Amino acid sequence: MRLLAIAGGVGGAKLALGLARLLPPDDLRIVVNTGDDETFHGLHVSPDLDTVTYTLAGLSNEEMGWGLAGESFRALEALGRLGADTWFRLGDLDLATHIRRTDLLRQGATLTEATREIASRLGVRHAVVPMSDEPVRTIALTDEGELAFQDYFVRRRCEPRIAGVRLDGAEYAAPSPAFTAALAEADAIVFCPSNPLVSVGPILALPGVRAAIEGFGGPRIGVSPIVGGTAVKGPAANMMAELGEEVSCVGVARRYAGLLDRFVIDAVDAAHADTVAQLGVRPHVANTLMTTEADKVALAREVLALAGGAA
Ligand code: GDP
Repeated sequence: MRLLAIAGGVGGAKLALGLARLLPPDDLRIVVNTGDDETFHGLHVSPDLDTVTYTLAGLSNEEMGWGLAGESFRALEALGRLGADTWFRLGDLDLATHIRRTDLLRQGATLTEATREIASRLGVRHAVVPMSDEPVRTIALTDEGELAFQDYFVRRRCEPRIAGVRLDGAEYAAPSPAFTAALAEADAIVFCPSNPLVSVGPILALPGVRAAIEGFGGPRIGVSPIVGGTAVKGPAANMMAELGEEVSCVGVARRYAGLLDRFVIDAVDAAHADTVAQLGVRPHVANTLMTTEADKVALAREVLALAGGAA
C-alpha cells in the first residue's frame, strides 16, 4: 500500500507521524504545503516542512506546540539588539535548519533536495516532499490590506478580518517532481487534518493537482481538522467563519467535494454524518483528537483500514 499524505504543519504532522509508525518508508510520501514559506534575516524558512520533519524525527517541542525541543532564543535576542525584526520566533536550533536550507538552495539544490538532505540528517526515513520547488506565496486579503501569510498569522495574530486568500504563483508553480511521482504511484491518498484554506488549498491550486486527485483511481480519505465546530489549534475556524463558510466538518467536506471518497469526522460530530454523505463523501466517525502518540497511531490505523491497506 503506497500512500500519499497531503499535509500542512501541526495537524498534518500528527497524522503523518501515526502513518509513519505503521508504514515502511517506501510506502509513505508526505507532500507538504510551502505557501507559508517566508524569508527572514535572508534565510529561507519553510514552517510546514520543518514541522513535519521535526515531528517525524521525534524532535518537536511538545510544550510550545511548534519548533524544536530544548529550544532557546538567544540568537533572536541578539538580532533584535542589532535592529532586526524579531516577531517571527526563530529559535537557536531552528536557525541551523534555515541556515543549512538556505545554503543548500544557494548551492543550487532544489527545495526537494534540501528538504531530503535535512530530513535524512535528522534521522527521518519517510519522504517529506515540498509541494513545489518553485515559490508560491499565500496572501491574506484583509481589512488592513494584503498581508503575507506569516505577517497575518504571526505578526498580526490573525486579528485583521480576512475577505479571501490569494495564492501568488500557484497557477505557474509546477508540482515538485517527487510530488508528481507520488501522485502517479500512490495506491491511496490521505488528506491530513490540515487547514483547508492555507495548508491544503495551496497544494490543490498547483497546476494539474486537483484534476489528478479528481481522477485518481484509488481510495481518497480525508480527516476533518474541524472538531465540534472549532479548530483543534490555529486559525482555520476563524478564517472559515470570516469567509462565510460553515465552521464544521460539513464546511470542510464541502470544500473537498469531488476529491474525497471517505471523510473521517470526529465522534462529537456524528450528527453531521448524514449531511456529509449528501455531499457525496462517505463519512466515517472516529476519535480524531491526536494528543498522544497512541492517538496518532490509532487514527492512522483507521485511515489505513479505510484505504484498504489495514495495518
Ligand atoms: P499549521 O500549518 O501548523 O496550521 O498546520 P495544519 O494546517 O497541518 O493543521 C492545522 C489544523 O490541524 C487545524 O485546523 C487544527 O484544527 C487541526 N488539528 C490539529 N490537531 C488536530 C487533531 O489532533 N485532530 C484533528 N482532527 N485536527 C487537528
